[in-house]
Amino acid sequence: MFKICLFAAGCAIGGALVPVPKHMSTSEGAFRCRTADLATKVEFLKDAALPHEGYRLKVTPEKIQVWSSGDAGAFYAVRTLEQLADKTYVPDSKYAEVKRRESDYVIPSATIEDAPTFRWRGLMIDEARHFLGKEAVMKQIDLMADHKLNVLHWHLVDDQGWRLDLPKHPELAKYGAVRPRSVAFGAGAEWYGQKQKLKFRLNTDRYGPYCYSAEDIREIRAYAKARHVTLVPEIEIPGHERALLAARPDLSCRGEGKLERIPRVYWGIEHDVLCAGNDETIRYLESIFDEVCELFPDSPFLHIGGDECPKGCWKTCPKCQARMREIGAKDERELQVWFTRHFANYLEKKGRRVVGWDEVLYGDAPQSVIGMSWRMSANNGAGGDFVSAPEAAAKGHDMILTPSHYCYFSRRQGLAEDPYPYYDPEPFAEQTPRLELTLEKAYSYNPYAGFPERDRKRILGLQASIWTESIFTRFDFEWKAWPRTCALAELAWTGPGARTFDDFRKRMQIHRHRLIALRVNCSPIEQ
Ligand SMILES: [Zn+2]
Repeated sequence: MFKICLFAAGCAIGGALVPVPKHMSTSEGAFRCRTADLATKVEFLKDAALPHEGYRLKVTPEKIQVWSSGDAGAFYAVRTLEQLADKTYVPDSKYAEVKRRESDYVIPSATIEDAPTFRWRGLMIDEARHFLGKEAVMKQIDLMADHKLNVLHWHLVDDQGWRLDLPKHPELAKYGAVRPRSVAFGAGAEWYGQKQKLKFRLNTDRYGPYCYSAEDIREIRAYAKARHVTLVPEIEIPGHERALLAARPDLSCRGEGKLERIPRVYWGIEHDVLCAGNDETIRYLESIFDEVCELFPDSPFLHIGGDECPKGCWKTCPKCQARMREIGAKDERELQVWFTRHFANYLEKKGRRVVGWDEVLYGDAPQSVIGMSWRMSANNGAGGDFVSAPEAAAKGHDMILTPSHYCYFSRRQGLAEDPYPYYDPEPFAEQTPRLELTLEKAYSYNPYAGFPERDRKRILGLQASIWTESIFTRFDFEWKAWPRTCALAELAWTGPGARTFDDFRKRMQIHRHRLIALRVNCSPIEQ
């Protein structure tokens, strides 16, 4: 009798739900109620046997019931119900306002049993290169919750900016939160000459100061918590450190007076890193981590970066060389292993688990450290110390997977028309044709590839990572993040291979109208 848009448009069971539930069956009839009354019509019940974050949702013409073992499951059941009840579109007329004005919900009868495949379902936002600000971040947290993503990996620190105004370390924001000049909009990576150097066009406008106050952090934390999103701040050590060194040049290997007191104004990696042989470096970082832990009391994880640390300064620094002799390190890479180990131990004593980019897994890194795998091979990034995700898992490390070719949504997305610039140096260097991370490519990612069955339990989860060298505002951010993050969300929640891309694309053509109704600058779903 009922005919509802969710099940039209040639969609398989599951209609336009994104991520699609693991198990869903439908039956005749529908639940009808006034739009304003829906919140009061749902009956919430406990079922301790259901997994954490899992839920059962039953819609009949008479009532709506939700079972879960805890708050997170109930929260996700309501997210699914919102999509079932959604009226922002009709498939035939694409986007019919008239449908939105109707005052009744007609929710199809259905039974859904659902639970996530992975515990870590992440989105990384880089605010060091460009600062999006509180409202934009809160909006992303809302969108994450709508797609059942639960970890915001917050890249707050890098060569180009320090975005935390720590009350006990005001020097960091004073020097690190502002660039006196910066790369102009649209000026991406352009290789020139034989030396394969990157050329950037700089503007002369000051960028910043932009940073979050302790009060901002408290506000965003509460907002995220209410949406079952865990914040994982990233404080990079020992490389990507130029913004910190602007505040404390004495902590570089070159020492005081040798560095201009500004963050890096170009993209790319800074040669100057923290001096690992200086005891004051260790003490200073400990006091920063103390304060970051105070600011994020309910974050069980802390990200310490660890990627792309050039070792040139360490090779010629008497303090670093003395440290290497003291600890018996045979090369500079082992000095980084020692450095990582020190802060992993320090943070574990404070009750945190340490996450680091895959470079931290080199050598005998502490097994408790969680690796965040981003490189597809030793040719990516600094290279040399490459440890693949399956290798690290075999050594006992829990892993979060965000391989750049599948999960870096700052990469080109292969649209027929695209008004936004992209910063993507790798294709210029090596690849012809240039790599394009289309929606289909994002959805095709198989996180289990290379993992023997016994090590799959080491995959904590998946993450979309979005770098902001060429992302200036929330509009560019949303254009690049959505809809590709929907693909990642479905892989992380429902699991890889659950549906065909064609099935996903058809649902996305409808779901995109939902995102547009939420004023998201979502890029098109192409045929
Ligand atoms: Zn040094």
